[in-house]
Amino acid sequence: MSVDGLCQVCEVARASHRCGRCAALVCSDHYDTDTGYCTDCVAELGGADDE
Ligand SMILES: [Zn+2]
Ligand SMILES: [Zn+2]
Repeated sequence: MSVDGLCQVCEVARASHRCGRCAALVCSDHYDTDTGYCTDCVAELGGADDE
């Protein structure tokens, strides 16, 4: 599977993952490998990580 385009969160880095929830293309910085979701979804779901 190839992923093309820019991260939909930061729009700067090249996307290398796809969110399993909203299907957004995101870079490794904005992808949570534990959940398989983008950081937006993780934040929305109330992840343990509060920034
Ligand atoms: Zn990003
Ligand atoms: Zn998402």
